[in-house]
Amino acid sequence: MADPAAAPRAGAAGSPRIAIVGAGPVGLSVALQLRQLGSQAELQVFDAQPHAAAAAGDPRVLALSEGSRQLLQALGAWPTDAATAIRSIHVSQHAAGLASLPRVMLRAQDSGLAALGYTVRYGELLVALQAAARAAGIDVRYAAPVRVQPGDASARLLADGDGNGDGHGDAQAVPQDFDLAVLAEGGAFHDQRQRELHRDYAQTALIGQLRCERAHEGLAVERFTEHGPVALLPRGADYALVWCVPPQQAQELLRGDPARALQALQRLLPACCGRALELRLFGSYPLGLNARVRARQGRTVQLGNAAQTLHPVAGQGLNLGLRDSATLARRLVGVPESGLDAALRRYELARAPDRVALLGLTDLLARAFTWGAPPAAALRAGALAALSAASPLRRVLQRRMVFGWRG
Ligand SMILES: Cc1cc2nc3c(=O)[nH]c(=O)nc-3n(C[C@H](O)[C@H](O)[C@H](O)COP(=O)(O)OP(=O)(O)OC[C@H]3O[C@@H](n4cnc5c(N)ncnc54)[C@H](O)[C@@H]3O)c2cc1C
Repeated sequence: MADPAAAPRAGAAGSPRIAIVGAGPVGLSVALQLRQLGSQAELQVFDAQPHAAAAAGDPRVLALSEGSRQLLQALGAWPTDAATAIRSIHVSQHAAGLASLPRVMLRAQDSGLAALGYTVRYGELLVALQAAARAAGIDVRYAAPVRVQPGDASARLLADGDGNGDGHGDAQAVPQDFDLAVLAEGGAFHDQRQRELHRDYAQTALIGQLRCERAHEGLAVERFTEHGPVALLPRGADYALVWCVPPQQAQELLRGDPARALQALQRLLPACCGRALELRLFGSYPLGLNARVRARQGRTVQLGNAAQTLHPVAGQGLNLGLRDSATLARRLVGVPESGLDAALRRYELARAPDRVALLGLTDLLARAFTWGAPPAAALRAGALAALSAASPLRRVLQRRMVFGWRG
């Protein structure tokens, strides 16, 4: 029997009541866009973190595309002073035994852009989004880990004792029924068996900071190695490092002698970086593909990492999630409770091409460069050479990475 205390109350003039689960970049971005587009829906955002500042120190550095910058800037949530421009990207492979290896250079000027993208620390971005949400009067409840029971005509939120918080924080806020639950809780590697598409890459991403002899001048480096990709992202005067290695090696590098780690990294890097001078490793993330085929179930819709967790090889996870958020907000604005099902169907259809393309691309890139047989290395070299020689193809790829496969 329905719990009368939990029954959904309509928002202004019959507008829906919407719960957003997760006040990460994607959840806050949906809430802000709905408000900015003039949605009258009643919004409540729940987050498991004990308080707003808890994730502000997250050291992960993200490469965000020009498209993402434009979106965040329009929301008043772009941390201008903290962002570093990416003006060119050097893509190459490290393969022992192949003398001369091709490389691909992607340059902003080839697409008529000031920058191919920007780097920003996760924590800095979150602080900017939180400030914008406060200014917009969005109700965000922290210490409120929740789980959702999807239904055909509503979604029930229940307290989740297994979240990041203590499970008691804002317990009085749930259970509640909403007309729609937007799941932006970030997904998780450890529950990947619950999703329809999953792959354990047997790789761990080490994140850190690298100082090189040569100034980066906005250069980002993507280096494919037999164990996984290495990415250097310009960040202030240094590079932010994402170094993908087998899990066992990750532990050895994290706990071992920093000078040996620096030497091991130096051997993998292309000459354009110059000599590596100083390396600081901050932490690690296990890597997996973990995605849902369908983005919705009744009145529950998943987006961002809750819908798909990708390998960071192409730096596309959040870019994709922000595009999810933009499409969802546009589909929902002005839609009464009775129109939600049709709006969600349209959302799912619109996002399919972008999601499928990036799931396929990142999965291929994460694996193809680790295939060990000698002909594979030569084939990869051939593919890079072809991409390097064909400028129209390179420009198409470049534009796709900057603005996405828009549905
Ligand atoms: C090493 C690494 C490098 C990366 N580099 C890039 C990059 O260069 N470019 C890029 O675009 N992407 C990159 N990514 C991916 C990017 O970090 C994610 O795509 C992005 O953080 C997803 O945002 P989100 O809001 O969906 O989820 P999250 O950032 O995970 O936020 C989820 C929020 O939900 C909250 N939450 C969790 N469970 C609950 C619950 N039960 N109830 C309530 N709240 C809950 C959490 O506290 C959190 O605040 C990288 C990822 C890694 C690991």
